[in-house]
Amino acid sequence: MPELPLREDAARIAGEIADLRHAIHREPEIGLDLPKTQDKVLGALDGLPLEVSTGQGLTSVTAVLRGGRPGPVVLLRGDMDALPVTEETHLPYASVIPGAMHACGHDLHTAMLAGAARLLSDRQAELPGTVIFMFQPGEEGYAGARHMIDEGVLDAAGERPVAAYALHVASNRLPCGVFSTRGGPMLAAADQITVTVRGRGGHASTPHRAADPIPAACEMVIALQTLVTRHFDVFDPVVITVGSFHAGTADNVIPDEARFLATARSFSRESRSALAELVPRLIGDIARAHGLTAEADYAREYPVTINDAGEAAFAGQLIADVFGTERGEAAQFPLTGAEDFSFVLDEVPGAFVMLGACPPGQDPETAPSNHSAVAVFDDAALADGTALYAELALRRLAQG
Ligand SMILES: [Zn+2]
Ligand SMILES: [Zn+2]
Repeated sequence: MPELPLREDAARIAGEIADLRHAIHREPEIGLDLPKTQDKVLGALDGLPLEVSTGQGLTSVTAVLRGGRPGPVVLLRGDMDALPVTEETHLPYASVIPGAMHACGHDLHTAMLAGAARLLSDRQAELPGTVIFMFQPGEEGYAGARHMIDEGVLDAAGERPVAAYALHVASNRLPCGVFSTRGGPMLAAADQITVTVRGRGGHASTPHRAADPIPAACEMVIALQTLVTRHFDVFDPVVITVGSFHAGTADNVIPDEARFLATARSFSRESRSALAELVPRLIGDIARAHGLTAEADYAREYPVTINDAGEAAFAGQLIADVFGTERGEAAQFPLTGAEDFSFVLDEVPGAFVMLGACPPGQDPETAPSNHSAVAVFDDAALADGTALYAELALRRLAQG
C-alpha cells in the first residue's frame, strides 16, 4: 500500500523524537511535579505555532494548535511521569536517578506527542480545526488527568473536543509496532479498600476475655472472594485482591485491631457502584456478627476506561489504512490495569490505543512487563506512534 506523507514525515524526524525520549528517560520524575520533564517538552515545542500554557497545581503543558480551516476540536494526550523503580536495564540512556525509572514507557508517549505537535504544526494551514495537546503528569496513581480537567484542559481551545485519544506502549504482550484497541471497556476501574477491624486485646491464653479481631479479619478476606463469585455476573467480572494484611506483635498477645488493604478492579460502572455499596456492608456485618466493629473505606480511584464504540472503530480502521491490517489487533478482552485517561473519556468520547514496543530478539509473551526494573521499550515504535497521534487528529478533524 502507498505510504502516506505523515508517516514518512514521522520517520524523517524519528531521530529527534528518540533524542527527546532518551533525555526524558535519563532524568525521570515521579508524580505531579515534573519540572525537568516540563522544561524538555517546552523546549521541544518552542517555535511551533502553538498556544502553550502550563499547569498551576501540577507541571502540565497544554498546547493548542489552531488550524487554518474551520472545524472541530480534537484532544491528544501523552502522560509524562515515571515510577518509583530503580532501573536495571543498563541501556545507554538509562535513568541516572536512583529510585526513579520510566518503567511504563511514558517517556515514549511524551516524545511522540511532541513529534505529533510538530508534524501537525507543519500542516497548520490545511488543518480543518483545532488540536489540544495534553502533556500530563501524575498518571501513576496521582490522577493527573483529573487535575488537568479541573484546571480546564478540555476547554483550552474555547470549545469542547469532539474526540480524545491516548496512546500507550507495552514492553510485552504485543509485537513491536502492533496497535491494539477495542470498543467498550478497555481498562479496569481500580479502587482501594482499607479495612480496620477493632476488637479488644488481651492474653492469647484467654481469648474469651478479649475480642479477637484476627479471625474475623481472616473471615472477611475469604468472604470478599465469595462476594466476587456470588454477587457479580461472570461476564462482567470483578477482581478483589488483598495485598496487605497486618495484625498483632506476638504469638501470646491478642491485638486490639487488624488492618488490611485490597484493590478492587471492575469493568462496568454498574459493577463498580455495586462494589462500593456491598463491600463496606459485608465487612460491617461480619464484624457485628462477632461483636466487633470495623471500618471499611472504599476509595474510588480510577474509573473504567471506556472507549467509545465509534471512535475505537475509527481508530482501528485508520490503523489498517495507514499501517496495514497486520499492524492492528482488535483486543478481545479489556486489560485489568487502570488509567486516568478514563477521567477524560468520561467527558469526551474517544479511544485508548495500545502500541507494542517489545525490543527485537525478545518474545512478547515472556518479555518483562511495564513497571519492571528491566522493562525495555524499543525506539522502533516511536515514528509510527507519532504518526498515529497525528493521523488520528487530522482524519478525525476532517470528519467534522
Ligand atoms: Zn503504568
Ligand atoms: Zn502507563
